[in-house]
Amino acid sequence: MREGIHPEYHQAKVVCNCGNEFVTGSTKEEIHVEICSKCHPFYTGQQKATATRGRVDKFNRKYGVQSN
Ligand SMILES: [Zn+2]
Repeated sequence: MREGIHPEYHQAKVVCNCGNEFVTGSTKEEIHVEICSKCHPFYTGQQKATATRGRVDKFNRKYGVQSN
């Protein structure tokens, strides 16, 4: 392994418009994005999970099941 041939590569702080911050590897030090996986409206995994939880809560209330 030779040293000194790699470009500057560090932990870049990514700041989203929604206020979410996360770290990723990049040649930049700081990145601003308008949307991230946390606030993306089409982040279907999260939406699905929320919808499913809502239904389960309703079901549990109806049949008197303690969800916690
Ligand atoms: Zn975001």
